[in-house]
Amino acid sequence: MISVRRLAVSGLLLGLLGLLPGPSAQEVDSPRLLVVLVVDQMRFDYIEQTRARWTRGLKRLVTKGAVFERNYYPYLQTVTCAGHATIGTGTFPATHGILLNAWWRGTRSASCTDDGDVWSIAYGPGAEAVGHSARELQVPTLADRLRARSPSSQVVTLSLKPRSAIMLAGKGGIVTWLDDRNVWATSTAYSETPHPAVQAFVDAHPRSAARSEVWDRLLPPEAYTGRDIGIGEAPPRGWTPSFPHPLAGAPGTPDAQFDTLWETSPYADAYLGSMAASLVQALKLGQGKAVDYLGVSFSALDYVGHAFGPASHEVQDTLVRLDRTVGDLLNALDTHVGRDRYVLGLSADHGVAPVPEARQAAGRSGGRLVTQQLLQVANEALVKTLGPGQHVVRAEYTQIYLSAAAQLKAAQDPELLRPVVAALARVPGVGRVLLSAGLETQRQSKDSVVRAAALSHVPGRSGQIVVIPREYFTVGAATARGTTHGTLHAYDQHVPLVFFGQGVKAGRYRQRATPADLAPTLAATIGLPMPGADGVAHTTVFRRP
Ligand SMILES: [Zn+2]
Repeated sequence: MISVRRLAVSGLLLGLLGLLPGPSAQEVDSPRLLVVLVVDQMRFDYIEQTRARWTRGLKRLVTKGAVFERNYYPYLQTVTCAGHATIGTGTFPATHGILLNAWWRGTRSASCTDDGDVWSIAYGPGAEAVGHSARELQVPTLADRLRARSPSSQVVTLSLKPRSAIMLAGKGGIVTWLDDRNVWATSTAYSETPHPAVQAFVDAHPRSAARSEVWDRLLPPEAYTGRDIGIGEAPPRGWTPSFPHPLAGAPGTPDAQFDTLWETSPYADAYLGSMAASLVQALKLGQGKAVDYLGVSFSALDYVGHAFGPASHEVQDTLVRLDRTVGDLLNALDTHVGRDRYVLGLSADHGVAPVPEARQAAGRSGGRLVTQQLLQVANEALVKTLGPGQHVVRAEYTQIYLSAAAQLKAAQDPELLRPVVAALARVPGVGRVLLSAGLETQRQSKDSVVRAAALSHVPGRSGQIVVIPREYFTVGAATARGTTHGTLHAYDQHVPLVFFGQGVKAGRYRQRATPADLAPTLAATIGLPMPGADGVAHTTVFRRP
């Protein structure tokens, strides 16, 4: 066994001498494949709640892997695009620029992956109107650095969501997602044509084959904690709050609803896992001269969690079944790459809040902040000084955006926003209200709330006012049901960080960590420098001679 440090030094020297790619005698023993698994919306406490019911892949990861118990996002806006960009790059939103899933662009909100200069490439007829890419990402990903070091490195990422697949990959690779028509797709940012290996899998495995399936609990009902029908559950159309859940919906459910029901079920994760295993085999990932990269983001838990809440039988069963899906994927990696020839990091993009109505029914604090109401309150406060008009134009999660004219006036008169801050602070469920101006200098603030807002702050992209919800208050539209995430509270920030594979010492690790540590830690195993990373490499998890 060669030490990580020696590998790092030799890799760096060889790189400087221009001798890479091509494995040296020492590098033969370094990992051939880096694997990043993201479980969308997986809270850290799910490990403790579900591990007794795991028998396969997730059990292997938490028993044979290095589990970081104190892994928290340190920033405010714990949402999917920000989390995947953090995991993909080893930096925080203030550095990588992806503060939200969508942000205000002056005249409209656009998603983090919208790119008017690229076209959608579908693995089926037609195409989505909008192309997606990592254009808004301000720093390279681990996968980008891998390809820059060795152009023959293969990068493969896949997810149900474009933002998840794209932010794990960066600017290149075989990057696959479901488009807004629920057809597998990529874009001209990655390829001018459908990739044959992906096309072959999609053609051989039509998703509609699952239409006759019925999702029921894998284990006997008594193996699940709590009740199947929880307070505030908001199942998608076609389902009731209780099992079983037919993927075609109850009789009379429109055919088009199948896609939503499929996504909100463990069948979607199983499909993605088998697509990943198929691509490992077809593309011979980890079997070439250069180090390859595989990123898989499992989305079903997020859809299930939003609808049914973290305490539901549905969330528990999604994790019981994900254990099997990950087990099958690990078996494929063992078979085709080799048991000790890959290193894997697992994390989540964010956690999730308890369902507010369930908290209230139990006599506890909790509720919903409505973005439209925040917008109105802020605007009314500005109307008093600026006169009638729409001075506040948008609320995206915790970010409040002023009109261009109001921004200009606020820049000239720092007192202008004082009554707005006061009015927002009086809204029940609002904890604190901050102004964005100057947050870029507060990333080291001793005030943890200011620091969290600063790490989510991207000048030119953030709103002008930041609303910090109180604990157990969600932020969303007036029509929102179920639950969500996106705050600095522990249920949103505390997520798993697990390393597994070649040279990893099993155990529970108590040192503080963030998901930005995942990429630098994987990079260290192959001596790949990550300059400018906000995260650190946890080399203590690797065996030394
Ligand atoms: Zn979500």
